[in-house]
Amino acid sequence: MDDIRRTPDRGWIEVIAGSMFSGKSEELIRRLRRAQIARQKVQIFKPFVDDRFSEDHIVSHSEMRIASENIRHSDDLERQVAVDTEVVGIDEGQFFDPKLPTACNTLADRGKRVIVAGLDKDYLGRPFEPMPQLLAIAEYITKTLAICVVCGEPANHTQRLVASSDRVLVGAGGLYEARCRRCFDPSLARKT
Ligand code: ADP
Ligand code: ZN
Repeated sequence: MDDIRRTPDRGWIEVIAGSMFSGKSEELIRRLRRAQIARQKVQIFKPFVDDRFSEDHIVSHSEMRIASENIRHSDDLERQVAVDTEVVGIDEGQFFDPKLPTACNTLADRGKRVIVAGLDKDYLGRPFEPMPQLLAIAEYITKTLAICVVCGEPANHTQRLVASSDRVLVGAGGLYEARCRRCFDPSLARKT
């Protein structure tokens, strides 16, 4: 879904979903930059949990970056989005609470273009809430694939390389890599 709005008082939801390293943040940043170039008022959010790279920027694995605000809960979205904001960008949607889809709906109903990027599956390959609910209500969906580091085929999975049963495990590099269906092995992440 590209771009520049034609009907200023009509909102919608766009979702960019895929595995880690698939280019979700790059695609989100690209769309938000274009909106800024079009002089639209843009606000960008990410959840506090994701402080791996930068406190106040969304940063892609390829070092693209864009300024963002940290929020703890989806309720903060409705509070912090200004009346005259036209485009709302949200990264790491999977780290938000279950009310994120409702909050995005409310903003879209208020006429905003809402763009959410997030992991669609966890380290075991299970749908990662609240992304499935967001995918169901979005007008536009972009599925991104990475490259499998084992065989070079398109990769739909996020392989966890250390044993841990925490659904959210954020840390230094080397914890995850992109893998295709054939090379993905969820047992690597299970404690023995
Ligand atoms: P995501 O937000 O989906 O985790 P990013 O947008 O942060 O992805 O990063 C995508 C970039 O990561 C690619 O453009 C590429 O430069 C880099 N990259 C590193 N490893 C891989 C991989 N296995 N497959 C594809 N891109 C990779
Ligand atoms: Zn593979």
